[in-house]
Amino acid sequence: MQLQMPLPPKYTEADEDWLTEQVLHRKEQFGSALCILAHHYQVDAIVDLADFVGDSLKLSQQAASRRDARFIVFCGVHFMAESADVLSGPDQAVCLPHLAAGCAMADMADATDVSAAMEEVRRLAGCQVVPVTYVNSSAEVKAVTARAGGAKVFAIPDQHLGCNTAAAMGYGDDACVVYDPQKPEGGLTAEEVRRATFILWNGYCYVHQLFTPQHVRAARARHKDIQVIVHPECPREVVALSQASGSTEQIIQAVTAASSGSRWAVGTESHLVNRLARRCGDKFVRILSDRPSHCLMMARIDLPHLLWTLDSLAEGRIVNRVSVPSQIAADAKIALERMIATKAVKEATRTKTQ
Ligand code: SF4
Repeated sequence: MQLQMPLPPKYTEADEDWLTEQVLHRKEQFGSALCILAHHYQVDAIVDLADFVGDSLKLSQQAASRRDARFIVFCGVHFMAESADVLSGPDQAVCLPHLAAGCAMADMADATDVSAAMEEVRRLAGCQVVPVTYVNSSAEVKAVTARAGGAKVFAIPDQHLGCNTAAAMGYGDDACVVYDPQKPEGGLTAEEVRRATFILWNGYCYVHQLFTPQHVRAARARHKDIQVIVHPECPREVVALSQASGSTEQIIQAVTAASSGSRWAVGTESHLVNRLARRCGDKFVRILSDRPSHCLMMARIDLPHLLWTLDSLAEGRIVNRVSVPSQIAADAKIALERMIATKAVKEATRTKTQ
């Protein structure tokens, strides 16, 4: 994780109305030279000021499409800003308003460990292993996995997403084993690796891991007709008990398109669920758990840091620039373009079958 310099009191002591007004003023000054991107898990104050709001992959695509913006200010976490830098042009600067806004899950998979683990798993398996990297990983990990190819699947870095994907493809839980990089040979025997189809890196998102099967049962006990929809970063048992699972964008689409009066318990980040509840006032929408599930990393981006970034840019200082070295960016770009292409194919298939 990188360190963020403390801000002057002018920012930290200002009230929300003044900060919002100043950000709007800077936006007007920059015009199309500035693009503010915000992830769905940000607080409303940031979302309301963004030019685009989306999940990690959608925001990467937005960054790639805004060639007129000299400055892309990314209100998300570090790996997302890296993706934006990889996909944007060389004359564009991507800035992350708070340098310590990392992702706990992406930090669980370091490129050196992933590279060593792939060699180890190939040796134990005695065959090729296809690394499948989730968008929530560093550019360096994306680059390492884009260079490889093979036959078993090594899902990195989220074990739950890997396991839920295997289940969605019709595989049983016995097709998956968890690789622990802290243990010799990942804590696995050669026999376990040979029998498995999916090897899962033991990373997880602490926000989604909070949800339990008990939350699903309690929501159903309280509201008989409630539909439960969760993010596939939730544990396998939670996804198995729910009516539906999908990415952040898919959850938003499902709840928004649902019939008036329907009831939903949603297993994902609280800021998004609360916003969804307010926007879908004709439906009953609530968080699946009994306590908030905030992404604390994402919350490091706030109005003071956003305004400080914009003020600095206006004064000619590019602060908190996220820049991926070119030799890593080339391979990371291949991995990202594969993810975007896979998403486009999935969406086209869904549209055809609906
Ligand atoms: S919600 Fe989870 S995966 Fe997303 S940025 Fe926060 S810690 Fe990372």
